[in-house]
Amino acid sequence: MDQTQIDALRSIPVPPRGHIIDGQSVAASDGATMDIVSPIDGSVLTQVARGTVADMQAAIASARASFEDGRWSGMPPAARKKVLLKWAELIEANALELAVLGVRDNGTEINMAIKAEPGSAAGTIRYYAEALDKIYGEIAPTSADVLGLVHKEPVGVVGAIIPWNFPMMIGAWKLGPALAMGNSVVLKPAETASLSLMRMVDLAHEAGLPPGVLNAVTGEGAVVGEAMGLSMDVDVLVFTGSGGTGRRLMEYAARSNMKRVYLELGGKSPNIIFADVPNLDEAAKVAAGGIFRNAGQVCVAGSRLLVEAAIHDEFVAAVVKAAEAMTVGNPLDMTTAIGAVNSEVQLRANLGFVDTAKSEGGEVITGGDRILQETGGYYMAPTVVTGVTPEATLTQKEVFGPVLGVTSFTDEAEAIRLANATVYGLAGGVWTSNLSRAHRMVKAVRTGVMHVNTYGGADGTVPLGGVGQSGNGHDKSLHAIEKYINLKTAWIKL
Ligand code: ADP
Repeated sequence: MDQTQIDALRSIPVPPRGHIIDGQSVAASDGATMDIVSPIDGSVLTQVARGTVADMQAAIASARASFEDGRWSGMPPAARKKVLLKWAELIEANALELAVLGVRDNGTEINMAIKAEPGSAAGTIRYYAEALDKIYGEIAPTSADVLGLVHKEPVGVVGAIIPWNFPMMIGAWKLGPALAMGNSVVLKPAETASLSLMRMVDLAHEAGLPPGVLNAVTGEGAVVGEAMGLSMDVDVLVFTGSGGTGRRLMEYAARSNMKRVYLELGGKSPNIIFADVPNLDEAAKVAAGGIFRNAGQVCVAGSRLLVEAAIHDEFVAAVVKAAEAMTVGNPLDMTTAIGAVNSEVQLRANLGFVDTAKSEGGEVITGGDRILQETGGYYMAPTVVTGVTPEATLTQKEVFGPVLGVTSFTDEAEAIRLANATVYGLAGGVWTSNLSRAHRMVKAVRTGVMHVNTYGGADGTVPLGGVGQSGNGHDKSLHAIEKYINLKTAWIKL
C-alpha cells in the first residue's frame, strides 16, 4: 500500500446500494434510502436502502429456505471450504479498495484499517474454512450395549448485528464460524459503517456462496435490528455493540422464540502500570496507542490508566508526550495516527464526557476539544484526564472515544480493587518486571483478556469475550464455533 494507490481511490463515486436478499440487490420495500455521511468531511458519500420490517422478514425467509434445502448446510465440507477459501482470497485481492471504502464510511485511520479490516477479515474467514473439516463429533464412553454418538449440527439461521468501529473484522468473526458450520446468515451492518461489509458480502457470492445463504439488510437498528431480534425464525443472534442494545436483544429473544443470544459489549478496561514497568517510555507509547488508535473506538481499548503513585507524574507526562505526537487528521493519509470520530453524534457524546469529567474534579492534561472543524469532519484531540476517582463517570461509563482517565494506586491490592470496580470485564493490561505479580494480576482482574507488558493486538488464535456486563460467548479461535452448532445425541441400543 502506498499513498498514490490510496489517492486513486479516495474520491471515486460510491454508487447507492440495496440490500442483498437471495443473492440479489434489492431496494427497500417502500423504496426508502438513507444518506451515508463520511466522517472525514461531513459530506454525503452515497445512499443505502433504509430497510423495513418486511425487508428483514424477506431476508430471514430466504436464509431459512436456503438452510432447509441443504444448498449450503448439506454441501460436502470440502466444497464449503473451497468457497470460503476463495472468499478470503477475493477479500485480500480487493483489500485496498475495501479498506478505503470502509475508511470513507467510518473514519478509521487507513494504516490501521488495512490490517484490521480486510487483512484480518480474510485471515478469519480462512481460519474457519481450514477448521471446518477438522471438527469431529464424539463417541461417548457408554456401556457395551449402547452406542452414544454426539453430532455437531448447524443451528439454522444466524442473525448477526455488527457495529461500526471494525465492520469487516467483526463481521468476519461472526460470518466465518457461522458459515463454516453450515448455517445460513442474515447480517445487519451498522447505520454508519455498512459499505465495506456489504461489498464483502458481494465478494462471498463471487466466490460461489449459493444465493440465500448470506443475506444482508441495511437500515436502522431500531427497525430492522429489532425485527431480527423478534423473529420466530432466527435461531441464534450474535451481536457486538453497546450494552443498551445488548439488553434489548435479550428482551427480544425472551419475547419471541427464546433464541440464543451472544453479546460482545463494551468495556472500561484497566491498563495497570506498576513502578517496575520494564520500559516506561515504551509502555507509555503502547498505552497511548491502546486508547487513542481508531479514535478510541475499540471495544478492548485501555480507557482507564491505573498508575502506581511512585511513577504517576512521570508516566502521565510520557503518555501525554506520546498522545501529542500522534497526528490526528484525514484517515486516508498514511501518516495519520488517529482518524475521524465515526459520527457527529459520537463526537458530541465524547465531548460531553469530557465536560462531565471536569465537573467531577478531573483535570484535562491534554486534548479535550473538537479539532479540524474547518474540514467539516469529526475530529477530536486525544484526551488525558487525571485525578479520576473510582466513582467518577469516566471510571464507570464507556466513552468509546479518545478519552483516557488516569487514577493512581499505592499497592497491588488497591490496583486489583480499582481494576475490578466496574460492571465491565472485557480486557485489561498489566506492566511489571515481576513475573509472579504478572501472573497474580492475570488471575485477579475479572476480564476476558489480560495483556502483560503489551496492550492489544491479540490475533485470531485466541478467544475474545467478556465477563460481567461486557457480554458472553467468544469470538475468534475454535471456541467461537460453539455458538454456531447444536449438539445432538444419538443413543443407540446395540
Ligand atoms: P452504538 O450506540 O455504539 O452505535 P449500538 O449498539 O447502537 O452501538 O449499535 C450496534 C449495532 O446494533 C448497529 O448495527 C445498530 O444498528 C444495532 N442496533 C441499534 N439499536 C438496535 C435495536 N434496538 N435492535 C437491534 N439492533 C440495534
